[in-house]
Parts: sequence; structure tokens; C-alpha cells
Amino acid sequence: MILELFPRDAQNKIEAIAELNKKIRCCEKCRLHEIRKNALCGEGNTDSRMMLIAQAPGEKEDLAGKMFIGPSGKKFDELLLEADISRNEIYITNLIKCRLPKNRKPKQDEIQTCSEYLNKEIILIEPEVIVPLGYHAMRYIFQKFGIALNSSKVFGKFYYAQEKKIFPVQHPAALCYGDSLLEETTKNYKKLKVLMSECKWYPCCSLKRYYETGKLGKKWVELYCRGDWESCVRYHMEERGEPHPDWMMPDGSIDESLRD
Ligand code: SF4
Ligand code: SF4
Repeated sequence: MILELFPRDAQNKIEAIAELNKKIRCCEKCRLHEIRKNALCGEGNTDSRMMLIAQAPGEKEDLAGKMFIGPSGKKFDELLLEADISRNEIYITNLIKCRLPKNRKPKQDEIQTCSEYLNKEIILIEPEVIVPLGYHAMRYIFQKFGIALNSSKVFGKFYYAQEKKIFPVQHPAALCYGDSLLEETTKNYKKLKVLMSECKWYPCCSLKRYYETGKLGKKWVELYCRGDWESCVRYHMEERGEPHPDWMMPDGSIDESLRD
């Protein structure tokens, strides 16, 4: 009955996610089903622009069948609060849907088997921004979208690959062992708020015109105007009311070829 309130596409999406979640809950495709109490499905806003991907449920999450309710969940909520983001605004899920014994690292065959569900979630939710939390989720997403892992400093960097924006951040569990990463992690989670919306100047910005008339590639628009607009040089000049050429790029460089 409730489904009748939604347009057909939305209904199909809700039904497809429900169907997927049913499969996850009774999955026995790998050894991890033997010790789990609950296989965890994704949670949150299925229409969100942003999908956060954690590694796997912990003990408390496994018992309750809910994501991020244990110690790392407390840290997660604190980080979201700092960033002014509510759980209802985002979709959160795991790379591995069942608890890993003694919180050990996921094995390659487990990632390969279980990621089938994550891949389906990405197709159904269609997030604009994918946020892997921690090393294993980041490594999987980098492989999936063909991003080379050639730096040890990937958390807090913004990537655009295969039409998806990817912003890896630290897993909140990293904060359970001390505060050494607190400042950097908090800064990265605050950036999520920026990535939740496009630049307020976009409707009247010359970059929109250049992009729509085919003079400018999509990557600039996705990385800045519909992505990290806070890092755009032009954005800050607009805010200060400083004049700048229309053909100034978001990184402050001047592209004379765009001059009308
Ligand atoms: S970890 Fe994934 S593949 Fe393995 S049993 Fe759980 S849901 Fe199935
Ligand atoms: S170029 Fe900069 S100011 Fe213009 S819309 Fe993009 S992010 Fe905003």
C-alpha cells in the first residue's frame, strides 16, 4: 500500500533493494555465515547522493543486526555531528556483510564473493559520491574503478573515475585507539558536507556555460562545481566579491582557449 505513494521507478528501486536485502540476510556463500548472527544490509537514505562503505560489522552490530552501534559507531556519530550530517541523509553499507572472526582482516576470496552485493547496491542506489571508510573498502573501490593506489596518503583526497566521485576517509574505528588521527579525520568528514551539494554559484558560473557548450570537459565540473567547490579558487573570489576572468579555472589557472 505504501509503495503506491511512490512513482514507478522509485517503487522498482525499493523493491529491488528489498529483494537484494532478502538475499543478503540468508546468504551462505562464504565461510563467514557460520559464525554470524546477522548479515547486515545497507541502511539510510536510498536516494542519497552519498554512499559510505565500511569494512564489516563488529560484534555489537552482528548481534543487533544494525550498522555502527558499537564503539566505532559512537565515533562515527561524533564525526557526523561535527560535519553536521545526519544518518538519514546518507546511505551506509559494508564491503563484507558478515562479522569477521575476532575482527580479523577480510580474506581475498571473502571480498570477491561478498562484493557482489556491494556492486548491486552501487547500481541500485546510484550514488554520485562513494566514500570508502578505511583501507580495505578503499582498496576494493580503487580496484573496481581503476584508480591506481600509488600513494600512502589517500584519505581525504578526491578522485573522479568512471563517472563516480570517490572520497576515501579513515574508518571511525581508527579513533577508538587514541586521538592522534582525530584532527585529520574530523577535517575529512567535514568535507563530506561540502560534497553533499553542488556549488551555489554553479547556475550562474561561466564554467557551466563552457561545459554545456562542449568547450570544457566534465571532469572539472564534477571535481569542483558538483564536488569539492570549497577548494575552488573562483568560489572564494566570488565570496569576496573579487573580479576574475570568466576563463579562470577552479584551480586558479587561466585557460585562454576558453575566451569568447
Ligand atoms: S560475508 Fe557476504 S558472501 Fe559471506 S556469507 Fe556473509 S553475506 Fe554471504
Ligand atoms: S567554477 Fe568554482 S565558483 Fe564556479 S561553479 Fe564551479 S566551484 Fe563554483
